[in-house]
Amino acid sequence: MEWRKLPAIQLSRITLLVTAQSTANIVLAFWLYMEYLHNPFMREYVANVWGSIWPVTVVGLSALIGGTASLLFYKSKYPHLFKNRPSHEVATQNTGDRAGLASLDSCPFCNIPLKVLSENRFQCRQCRRYFKSSLPQLAV
Ligand SMILES: [Zn+2]
Repeated sequence: MEWRKLPAIQLSRITLLVTAQSTANIVLAFWLYMEYLHNPFMREYVANVWGSIWPVTVVGLSALIGGTASLLFYKSKYPHLFKNRPSHEVATQNTGDRAGLASLDSCPFCNIPLKVLSENRFQCRQCRRYFKSSLPQLAV
């Protein structure tokens, strides 16, 4: 399916954006650490703030770790619940052969191929209904 593929230019733009944001985050974290090391007022401020938020932080981190551990345990015990089924399998179980969420190439009401209006907008040739694909556009 042509409309699901991500153009190479867009992928490189996303990669560039993520790289730039990660670089900015690392620079800002380094700057904050340097400020902490060299600014006594900031050290005092951090000590005061940490003194008042550490119980909440400890509880939150414990809940996060416990949740992750129980999820991993559950996943190891019931791996079939976490497997992604192929989209055509889901589609055939729900509504029929050619109608499904992931395969928006035919009208789910008329079961005939859709006319492509733009990259993620479609129209049925028979009932004139409009469809919009909200699927994340991933490179295949
Ligand atoms: Zn239709």
